[in-house]
Amino acid sequence: MIRQVPKVELHDHLDGSLKAETIIELAAEEGISLPARTPEELSLWFHRGADRKNLGLYLEGFSVSCSVMQSRKALTRVAYEHILTLHEENVAYAEIRFAPVLHTEKGLNLEEVVESVLHGLEAGKAETGVSCGLILCAMRHQNISLEIAELAVAFREKGVVGFDIAGDEYGHPPKKHLDAFQFIKNRNFNITIHAGEAFGIESIWQAVQICGAHRIGHATRLLEDMVVHNSRIEQMGSLAHYIQDKRIPLEICLSSNVQTGATPSLDEHPFGVYFRNNFRVMLCTDNRLMSDTSLTKEMGLAVRHFNLTLRDLEKLTINAMKSSFVHYEERLKIIYDILKPGYAKVRELTNPNA
Ligand SMILES: [Zn+2]
Repeated sequence: MIRQVPKVELHDHLDGSLKAETIIELAAEEGISLPARTPEELSLWFHRGADRKNLGLYLEGFSVSCSVMQSRKALTRVAYEHILTLHEENVAYAEIRFAPVLHTEKGLNLEEVVESVLHGLEAGKAETGVSCGLILCAMRHQNISLEIAELAVAFREKGVVGFDIAGDEYGHPPKKHLDAFQFIKNRNFNITIHAGEAFGIESIWQAVQICGAHRIGHATRLLEDMVVHNSRIEQMGSLAHYIQDKRIPLEICLSSNVQTGATPSLDEHPFGVYFRNNFRVMLCTDNRLMSDTSLTKEMGLAVRHFNLTLRDLEKLTINAMKSSFVHYEERLKIIYDILKPGYAKVRELTNPNA
């Protein structure tokens, strides 16, 4: 049933979501050696590497996936295949992100990197009808975030919908990239920031109040600003209140958060608290390959661990679409033409009397 429902994906790393088969084929073409030979072994290598309860270790696998994404052809192929993967599980709209600077090792410039990915996304969209936008990430440990922000704005009419900073959070606070965020805000563009994953509420506060984030990636540790008893919030700090009051969307990645150690277990993940207390949350995959997941799997986990109903899944999906970075009219069109009729159809099939 979950596979059939229409979905919206807002936190989805291109370089964390390749197919293992594709990595093997691209590596063979380029003469790159890999840590495993078969797709099964390679998938397992990525999953084991990711599941070490540390964000820095989780990110190590990206050096392998990015090593095969250094040509126009490879980038276009990976982006195209990604849309087909999304289509297979009925994703209606997706925002896919990646860091262009990680794909310049063999001489491509940043513009060529972005063009190649957009080309692949367009081809996938033309074939499947999946709508999508691209988010460009700057790396937290580097100092070229302003250049990446300018790149994002330069491509805004061609498929780029926003700007993010990614990479290890610890020791790299978002406020270090203030000039980049200021530039994006001055151009009336969109910001999402990874925050509250490996670092606490200070990082979320900076992302929202100093950098002007319109959405937060993860926000797992916003829980530290709440006193919770039996899933009920008894007390909230001013930041948690602000995020709830202003309806700031939180991109929740259940599997990834357990693997990086941002939360000790799924049952202790704050998603249930956020959702039941009316924060604007949505489910996302983060990295399909590293985390061995899909949106279908993440929804399944949420149903099992947090007792979600079909109505709840619909609410999360509509939350996601409302929070997307495409223009308002496009959001409404997807909500009313695809998401609501799609859920109504599944409801009719699963329970005709509901
Ligand atoms: Zn992420």
